[in-house]
Amino acid sequence: MKKILITGALGQIGSELTSHLRNIYGVNNVVASSKTRNEESRIVEEGPFEIVDVLKVEDIAETVKKYDIDSIIHLAALLSAVGEGNPALAWKVNVDGLFNVLEVARETKCAVFTPSSIAAFGPSTPPDKTPQDTLQRPTTMYGVTKVSGELLCDYYFKKFGVDTRGVRYPGLISYETLPGGGTTDYAVHIYYDAIQKGKFTCYLKEGTAMDMMYMPDALDAIVQLMEADPNKLVHRNAFNITAMSFTPEKIFAEIKKHLPEFSMDYHVDPIRQEIADSWPNSLDDSVAREEWGWNPKYDLSSMTVDMLAKLREKLC
Ligand code: NAD
Repeated sequence: MKKILITGALGQIGSELTSHLRNIYGVNNVVASSKTRNEESRIVEEGPFEIVDVLKVEDIAETVKKYDIDSIIHLAALLSAVGEGNPALAWKVNVDGLFNVLEVARETKCAVFTPSSIAAFGPSTPPDKTPQDTLQRPTTMYGVTKVSGELLCDYYFKKFGVDTRGVRYPGLISYETLPGGGTTDYAVHIYYDAIQKGKFTCYLKEGTAMDMMYMPDALDAIVQLMEADPNKLVHRNAFNITAMSFTPEKIFAEIKKHLPEFSMDYHVDPIRQEIADSWPNSLDDSVAREEWGWNPKYDLSSMTVDMLAKLREKLC
């Protein structure tokens, strides 16, 4: 990667990825973009920024040409809970938007990174140690768009030689930007409420296990995979990756070790509970480990220490 365009750069991943990539590749070599400009954002101030609505193919094409982009990190999307609220828009942004990015990449010979998700699995998928290649019959529109995206990326590689790569992210936990309306968001909000209120109401019920990852590992995965030797990549797209799997009571117990007064109760949201129940409990990410050396640094305990320290700095 030399000249990088990030779509959806003001979201949870993009707002941290942009600075991370600017540190590695140089500020002027990483162009952040989003549908609208947020003057408050550090990302907009810090380096090149363009308005790119991924539903407008000309926005993508003009920006790629203007900056001589060779790699597109495509993050613009609607997440699971938001997508269930507006399935038509979720299909448009997640599938038509990706199609536009891939078309521009085909014409300009750009590489493309696109994240899929644990949402690409469904209730008929083996839930424990979910294999890399397995049944994928998701029951959410978000999941349907993610499977479609995985297939589209494979198709553009096989048919047109576009250098497409991607991972299936689990729930991502970070302190800089709040998550954009996913089912795993509780695992971020619990840290904020632990510090600010001393108590948390969880919208998922006890025993709901899902894969999760701390943001620094999620950012490293992008760089590692995009810089990996293409000859070693058998899968290219949609690599299972994970760093930890936990239930609400497990993350609560971990935080309570540092904040003994912290308490939690439950008020289950049936929509997000149904989505969570349809996703795996834990992924097998051995293929990513073998093909490009995936090896996360943070587990639940080290992530909790860092999250609490960073949030105290930010909020107190
Ligand atoms: P987010 O919702 O925080 O950010 C997405 C950004 O896309 C938002 O800033 C939004 O304004 C922008 N956007 C929406 N429509 C757009 C359009 N038409 N044109 C341009 N921008 C548009 O999402 P995120 O958490 O940063 O996720 C990024 C990617 O990673 C998505 O593909 C998502 O499915 C995937 N992912 C995220 C997680 C997670 O836990 N955050 C987990 C699995 C996969």
